[in-house]
Amino acid sequence: MHLVIVGNGITGVSCALAVRRLRPDARITLVSAESAHHYSRTALMYVYMGHLRLSDIKPYEDWFWDENRLGLVHATATALNTRENRLTLDNGTTLAYDQLLLATGSQSTRYGWPGQHLAGVQSLYGLPDLAAMARDTHAITRGVVVGGGLIGAELAEMLHSRGIEAVVLVRDARYWASVLPPEEANLVDAQFEANQIQVRYRTELGEILGDAQGRVRAVRTTAGEEIPCQWVGLATGVAPNLALANTADVETDRGILVDEYLRTSVPNVYAAGDCAQHRRPAAGEVAIEQLWYTGRMQGETVAHTLCGQPTPYRRGVWFNSAKFFNLEYQTYGQAPAQPGAELSSFYWEHPAGRAALRIYFRAASPQAVVGFNALGLRLRQAVCEAWIRQRAPVATVLAQLGAANFDPEFFPQHEQAIVAAFNRQFPEQRVVLRQRKGLLARLTS
Ligand SMILES: Cc1cc2nc3c(=O)[nH]c(=O)nc-3n(C[C@H](O)[C@H](O)[C@H](O)COP(=O)(O)OP(=O)(O)OC[C@H]3O[C@@H](n4cnc5c(N)ncnc54)[C@H](O)[C@@H]3O)c2cc1C
Repeated sequence: MHLVIVGNGITGVSCALAVRRLRPDARITLVSAESAHHYSRTALMYVYMGHLRLSDIKPYEDWFWDENRLGLVHATATALNTRENRLTLDNGTTLAYDQLLLATGSQSTRYGWPGQHLAGVQSLYGLPDLAAMARDTHAITRGVVVGGGLIGAELAEMLHSRGIEAVVLVRDARYWASVLPPEEANLVDAQFEANQIQVRYRTELGEILGDAQGRVRAVRTTAGEEIPCQWVGLATGVAPNLALANTADVETDRGILVDEYLRTSVPNVYAAGDCAQHRRPAAGEVAIEQLWYTGRMQGETVAHTLCGQPTPYRRGVWFNSAKFFNLEYQTYGQAPAQPGAELSSFYWEHPAGRAALRIYFRAASPQAVVGFNALGLRLRQAVCEAWIRQRAPVATVLAQLGAANFDPEFFPQHEQAIVAAFNRQFPEQRVVLRQRKGLLARLTS
């Protein structure tokens, strides 16, 4: 079997490694336009900030690929011929495959703002963006970031790390309003304030203004305010990269349409990761998942099917994490910004605003826990997932909270405070915190 994988991101590489494990004899070729070797996209910001070098964000040494007989082709696949099972590459060659995985990731979206093509205006997705940002923010004094999500916060932190004033425009009334409840958003805001990031809520980009040399000199908001700046970061979302799929008869919608085995509409062609759109996502799951860990899961899952062990993709309990300056964020399960009437939530916040925990549970008895938001605390993923899967009542979770503690040095003081707060908010429950000893093993076994 010759497996060709287009894209050496986390999805393509996870698939390649799993296939190598399952089928030591398989021929595997990874084609990728962006970089000769796989790197961790999520760590791009740390290279800009000087915490890591580019070589540090490559999880595997360059000899690893040869050693594992993984062929690497550094080129763009420009056309796909599914009748002849062949890819055309921009280096003038073609590549025949028996099985093909499209793991082409996402592309940053832009909304047609006047001036968006001026020099000094960009998004952040890959290595060329990192290079452009390093070049175009050199010696500038102010950058404007458009977008109130994770990448917007990253861009602001990146500018701040180089002493550049950052102004962030956010259309909604609070930070990451589609994901965070107001209390959590306020804690992130406190981080912005502490780091002198100016965030303007309910503010939309109208146009980007250039100078005589075609470089950005300011942005104008839809309210007419002009904000002088020398660089603009557009962090307004990503969309599946369909360029290659659209050269063939592969069915697409917003993403490349796949069934639960990650098969596309064309035999022997699969799609996974950011570029894939699930035709029938399971209850509570989204059709397009644009996350690092789901890319890895999808890559590993499709590898089994490619190796003759048909395996449906099941994401399991939702998980995500991020860091806003010094504030770590984790979320598990169902954790909506605005819960419906069927859900209740308990919220605790450290008096100094350094940490917070929200536990979502069903309003109806036995008040089964469905999700968590943690800020400034580290929870154990396996324990939170076990509670959600087992539909543990909220009082049980509170009593066993120590088992989820991943930060033993600091967390114990919070457990007492959290349980006390819960007992004040829900006096009918009267939870008593149990000793941590032995709980963890029992919950995760
Ligand atoms: C700055 C940033 C920070 C992020 N932080 C987080 C985070 O903290 N947590 C999290 O869960 N997720 C995060 N994400 C999202 C996460 O990185 C993506 O979900 C994940 O990388 C997607 O992996 P993928 O392998 O599906 O696609 P990609 O990583 O996009 O890889 C696809 C590769 O395919 C290549 N390619 C595409 N078309 C072709 C072609 N025709 N020929 C050859 N090569 C091609 C592309 O150049 C690209 O290198 C972040 C994303 C960004 C941009």
